Order: sequence, then structure tokens, then C-alpha cells
Amino acid sequence: MLAAYPKKYDVIVVGGGHAGIEASLASARLGCQTLLLTMNLDTIGLMSCNPAIGGIGKGQLVKEIDALGGEMGKAIDSTAIQFRRLNTKKGPAVQSSRAQADRQGYRLYMKWVLEKQAGLDIKQALVDRILVRDGLVQGVEMHLGEKFSGKSVIITPGTFLNGLIHIGLTNFPGGRMGDFPSLELSQSLSNLGFRLGRFKTGTCPRLDGKTIDFSCLDPQEGDKNPVPFSFSAPKINQSQVPCYITYTNSKTHHIIKGGLDRSPLYTGVIKATGVRYCPSIEDKVMRFPHKERHQIFLEPEGLETNEYYPNGLSTSLPLDIQLKMLRTIKGLEKVEITRPGYGIEHDYVDPTHLKPTLETKLIRGLFLAGQINGTTGYEEAAAQGLVAGINAALMVLGKDPLILDRSKAYIGVLIDDLITRGTNEPYRMFTSRSEYRLLLREDNADLRLREKGYRIGLVEKAEYQEVEAKEKHIKDELDRLSSISISPGDKINKKLASLGSSPINHTVSLRELLRRPEISYRDLGFFDEEVSKIEDGEAQQVEIQVMYDGYIKRQLQQVKNFKKMEKLKIPLDFDYESVGGLSTEVKEKLSKIRPYSLGQASRISGVTPAAISVLMIYLKKLGQM
Ligand code: FAD
Repeated sequence: MLAAYPKKYDVIVVGGGHAGIEASLASARLGCQTLLLTMNLDTIGLMSCNPAIGGIGKGQLVKEIDALGGEMGKAIDSTAIQFRRLNTKKGPAVQSSRAQADRQGYRLYMKWVLEKQAGLDIKQALVDRILVRDGLVQGVEMHLGEKFSGKSVIITPGTFLNGLIHIGLTNFPGGRMGDFPSLELSQSLSNLGFRLGRFKTGTCPRLDGKTIDFSCLDPQEGDKNPVPFSFSAPKINQSQVPCYITYTNSKTHHIIKGGLDRSPLYTGVIKATGVRYCPSIEDKVMRFPHKERHQIFLEPEGLETNEYYPNGLSTSLPLDIQLKMLRTIKGLEKVEITRPGYGIEHDYVDPTHLKPTLETKLIRGLFLAGQINGTTGYEEAAAQGLVAGINAALMVLGKDPLILDRSKAYIGVLIDDLITRGTNEPYRMFTSRSEYRLLLREDNADLRLREKGYRIGLVEKAEYQEVEAKEKHIKDELDRLSSISISPGDKINKKLASLGSSPINHTVSLRELLRRPEISYRDLGFFDEEVSKIEDGEAQQVEIQVMYDGYIKRQLQQVKNFKKMEKLKIPLDFDYESVGGLSTEVKEKLSKIRPYSLGQASRISGVTPAAISVLMIYLKKLGQM
């Protein structure tokens, strides 16, 4: 047994994936002596699956991470090779950004940012055990016996916990292809009393670009004017590269079906629950038998590599079947696989063990973040890592925690869903998970969260002042548009006709005119020359606030009611057994989740409105509310 390492840390982060990166940066940036322990320094920030950040719902998370002072948005802005805004023809609530990353560039960017960070030590080590005394975390013990002590510990081991890789009927332990699994850590968590479950995810084979015939495929270009993820980023300067589109066909499907007798999924070798929204190609073929083809995006892995990622072809079929099915696809007739696709089963911890700060209820000072909490996705992991890093640091500093509620951020929705309902399948973010999605847009993440980031200490004063100024410009402009009116006349109605809008026959304010969907804010410049003076981002906010005024007001009213319930706090050690009038089932559920507010209690499945009324009356009687 090696001696304890002499330096004492405030915060120890285990795992240098997407959660661990944000956690260690946040903690160190808040002034805590931080140690990042990760299995392999060369895989810090490695994307295990597709080389892309963002997507519907996920883009919102990245913007929120950035607004709070996290790193993911800046990293992808610096290393993206194709930017695309998604759902641009739909309403602003469901528009999201996505960018194709240079996989190695992204990883190296993150490693360098961590290495440069003051107050952050980084060491390559395999963590086996969490050290606890009297319910309080003390530190961690390495596989080689070394012990590190820390006032708080954040565990972020991703898919590595008891990872088992499957390719056909061959399986072997691994955290991800090419990495060791983390076996002892899982046992350590279980010994501490955490309930563990098992999930499954999978990835595509990677292809040798030299063997793809791109000449017969449709290219998909990125956006002409790429919009950065980060609110602090200047313009995007790097050149963008195309992806290519192809499709599976009946021959592909025939080969896949012929390989099912050696599929770990279809022979029952894989028992864990998979990602419903990211099914394997064998799953898609079997679940949608009438679909003649499935779309495949051939995405470059980076600028200095020939490898391609065939998005849509996640599989754990045997390698010979993978190659055969690929070669039935247009453009891939002579393709060679550089790395096989595979499935992986791994342990996760029931997230109802967590408080909204991501600290565990069982052990003080111990936080969990990322895939270990039953989520899937880099963005979901990074969002949790940031919250855990901030809260571990705030705890050490003796300050109030950061709790984001459902009305403030998708990050709040993510955490509340996990800790209140748990999850019986890998959890990923969608805009439909938020009841206030018109308020939680990508475009206003800075207006919602920059101030919080600044107050915590992760956002620079100048960056916060920019948002303050933006807010003022938007408000002033909205007031100004209400105060300026135009009267009917030939010139005006001709202009309206040219914009595809009906004529006016009485005086209207510019704000009323902007309600017309065919009229943009910049179009108002014809009627009023002051209009061009605000910036594009401000103009966008003015347009959205005018266009969706009624819906926004309605959601704000709903948020008011929601907040009332959130304010009604329940002590963590409250004795639910003592409440008469609650069913045994409800008592059991409340005792398991231990909600922090009446609002959270009302979101636990099976806890009825009647039960909430009983609880409210009881708590009031006790003087708890
Ligand atoms: P990771 O990024 O996995 O990082 C974990 C880190 O912890 C690693 O650096 C590892 O070295 C380190 N570590 C683990 N154990 C220890 C230990 N004991 N001691 C020290 N260090 C340790 N997401 C999607 O959204 N869609 C998908 O389709 C998808 N498919 C996937 C397919 C595969 C095969 C895999 C492996 C992952 C897939 N993912 C997918 C998930 C995505 O990669 C993860 O959700 C995300 O990376 C989780 O981030 P994380 O920080 O929690 O963990």
C-alpha cells in the first residue's frame, strides 16, 4: 500500500470525459485546488461516438453551458469542420445548432485548456475506490494503491463502469474500444449503498475514406454564415467541409437480417436497455420493416484523417456482416472498415440518489455527473459536469449552491427529470422534455444565464456587461417600436405589398406591424431609419418577443405558479411515515426520492394532486411552510 499523497485537494474529479472536463475547469476557475484523475491522458475529451456537438435540444444545453462559463461551446467553435442550424423553418423554441467536430482537434483543444488552467493538477491514474468516513467523502484510492485526499469528489466514469464490449457473439471487457473498463469503482459504489443498473449503447464502424466513391453521392454543405455556439466567440473563420448522403437498400436489409442469429442484441446476449432514440441499424430494419431505406450521413472524422463516420449505421453485428452490409450501399461498394462498430453495456447509478446539486444523498461531498447518472450524450454529460463542478467548489467555499430549476434552463430540466423520476432507459435531451420551451431557447441562453455565471464567478465582468447592454437595447427598442406609428398611404402600402403583406387602412404602431410573420425587424427600416441601429442578435430577440408575445406571456404565468410550489421546501429528513392520509405507495416513493420542495414532490410519478394537498396541510400544521 502506497502512502497518502501529501497534497490535499479541495475537489477531486475522476474521469477526463465531457463531464469531468467541465467539472474540473469550473472547480479550478472558482479558486479550488483541483485534481483530475483519468485513466488515459491522451483520451481527455475524446468523443466516443459521432464527432459532433449539439443537435435538437442538445444545442440548447451547449449554449447554456457557455452562458454559465463552461468550455464546450468554445471548444467546438475552435475545432468544428461543419456548422448547421437545425429546424430553421420551425419556431425559435425548437431551433438548435449542431457542428461536426474534428475529433482529434477537439480532444487536443480540451487537453490543452485543462493543462493551462491554474489550480488544476492532472494525473493519469485508475481510480478503484471512494474513501468515506462517517458519511463524508475523504478522497479516492488508485489501482496502484496511492491515495488522494479531497474535501469533495466528483465521479464521472462514463461508459467505463463494468463496461462490456460486444461485436457479434464476441464480447470482452472495455470502457470503450481501446480502453480498459473500470471494474473496481463500480464495486466501490455498490459497497457504499448505491443502486446500480445496466444500460447499453452502440456505435458505427469507421470507414477508410480512400475506399469511398464520393463522386456518386450528394454532398451536404454546412451553413454559409456559421453561427458560433459561444456567446463570447468572434466569427467562425475556419473553412468547412461537406458531409455526404447515402442510403441503405433492400440488399443491405437482407444481409442484416441474415446476421441476426449472431447479433448480441437479437440472441439475448445483451440484456441491458439501449438508447431508444439512437437505435442500431439492425433495430431500425426490424422495427420498421416497411421502410425501404434508411439515410446515412458520411461524416468526416477531421481535417487530417481519411476516416469517415457513417452516421445512422450503429451496429453490434459481427464484423463480416458489417463489411457485407456496408458494401451494398451506394458509394461504399469497395469500402474498407478501419474500426468495427460495437455495442457496449455498462453500469450506471440510479440518479434518484442525487440532490439537485448532483451531490449524493448518501455521502456528503460525493458528486456524480455524466453517463454514470443514466444519461447518454456529450452535452448531457458536460452540463452535469459543470453543475457538479460548480457545486462541489461552492460547497468547499462555504457558499450557497447553484440550483437551476425547470423554468430557467434545460440543464434544470435534465437534472430535475433524473433526480425526480430516475430513468429506465438512457436519457437524452429533447426540446419536448421542457414544459417552458418557448422561454428556454438557444438564442436567449445568455439572457437567461449569463448573470448567474457572473455571480458564481465563471463569467467575466465585461461579458456580463455585454448581456446587460443587450437586454437594455432590446427593451428600449420594443418600447420605441410601440411608440412609433405609421399612417396609411400609397408609398407605405406599396412597400407592404412588395413584402407580401396586406395594406393598412388605419394608423398602426411598428410593433403591431412586426407581428405580421412576413415582416422582419430589418424590413421596418423602410418606415423608420433608427431600426438598423441594433445588432442582429438584439433584432432577433425583438422579433421573437413581438411575434410570440401571447405565448411567452402565458408561459411566464405558468412559471409563476411553478415557482410558488418550488418555494415550498420540504426538509430532507422529513418523516413521511408520520403523515396520515398518504397511501403506503406514495409514502414509499416520497421516502425514496426525498423531494426538496412540494413542486418536486408533485412531479414524482404516482404522487397524486390529492397527496400533495395532504402533504401541504401537514407541513403547514408543523410550521414547516
Ligand atoms: P466519458 O466521455 O465516457 O468519459 C469517461 C472518462 O472517465 C474517460 O476519460 C475515462 O478514461 C475515465 N475513467 C473511467 N473510469 C475511470 C477510473 N476508474 N479512473 C480514472 N478514470 C476513469 N452518446 C450519444 O449521445 N449518442 C450515441 O449514439 C452514443 N453512442 C455511444 C456509443 C459508444 C460505443 C459509446 C462508448 C458511447 C456513446 N455515447 C453516445 C455516449 C457518449 O460517449 C457519452 O454519453 C459521453 O461521452 C459521456 O460523457 P462522460 O463524461 O460521462 O464519460
